[in-house]
Amino acid sequence: MLATEPGAWKPFAGGTDLMVLLEAGKLPHQNYLNIWGLDELRGIEANDTHLMLGALTTYTQIQAHPILRAEFPMLCQAASETGGLAIQNRGTIGGNIVNASPAADSPPALLAYDAELELSSRAGARWIPYHGFHTGYKQMLLRPDELLTRIRLPRQTRNKLQHYRKVGTRKAQAISKICFAGMATTNNSTVADVRIAFGSVAPVPLRCVKTESALRGQQLDANAIASARQALAEEIVPIDDIRSTKNYRLQVSLNLFDDFLSRISSPA
Ligand SMILES: Cc1cc2nc3c(=O)[nH]c(=O)nc-3n(C[C@H](O)[C@H](O)[C@H](O)COP(=O)(O)OP(=O)(O)OC[C@H]3O[C@@H](n4cnc5c(N)ncnc54)[C@H](O)[C@@H]3O)c2cc1C
Repeated sequence: MLATEPGAWKPFAGGTDLMVLLEAGKLPHQNYLNIWGLDELRGIEANDTHLMLGALTTYTQIQAHPILRAEFPMLCQAASETGGLAIQNRGTIGGNIVNASPAADSPPALLAYDAELELSSRAGARWIPYHGFHTGYKQMLLRPDELLTRIRLPRQTRNKLQHYRKVGTRKAQAISKICFAGMATTNNSTVADVRIAFGSVAPVPLRCVKTESALRGQQLDANAIASARQALAEEIVPIDDIRSTKNYRLQVSLNLFDDFLSRISSPA
């Protein structure tokens, strides 16, 4: 159906984003293609190098999976802080990605983990890096004839410090004001590898590659920290909206970044 009438049908997974828009009259008339019954899009599979999540994997399933809990705790934490239990039972990781909200909670973790996406159509399947998938506000590299089918995570998190933090109005049922995911390794107190991503600081979930470059290879002394904070302040572009102000978001982003750096300097 997607192939023969591209754009005419909108995939409907858990419906937790779509139903809100539909009820509010904010969706133009669409034909909905219910993909909830496609068991091929479910399940979490592991091999030696990767973990593969079907696009219909729910937040509840993510939190319950032993390998995700052991190796990808930031994704589990994002899942546990998404909505409330009803949303976690019904909302899917694929829906979170394609809904493309810059305030969504899973994307920063997925960016820090270097996730890849499988996009499938009648023409076949292609894998692309998640970093770069969102090209502008609610714009992405998904063609109208494609479904997001799987999400792949490299199993390279062992011995890496992982730090995830969502700042919202409440502990549950609150969209993020700011969301942070960071992962790092050090070698003789020098930052060896570092990945940093934020939600709600730009039109897209943002991987902060310039801030990462400012940190890589550095000993975290006062000068290095000041340069990295400066890089972060220049890289993010927070805005004023109904949930928060630009100034608050900038300050909280720097605070979360400081927390991350202090954990790198003195891992618990
Ligand atoms: C009360 C409430 C609280 C919420 N709290 C949070 C929160 O704290 N954090 C957060 O990040 N989100 C939150 N959300 C948003 C929502 O629950 C998530 O974004 C969820 O992951 C969406 O998944 P879904 O399966 O319900 O998507 P759907 O609503 O079914 O679809 C969302 C979009 O993705 C497309 N789509 C879905 N699956 C695919 C696929 N496989 N291939 C191609 N396109 C697809 C749909 O066409 C649609 O455009 C909340 C929503 C509600 C109603």
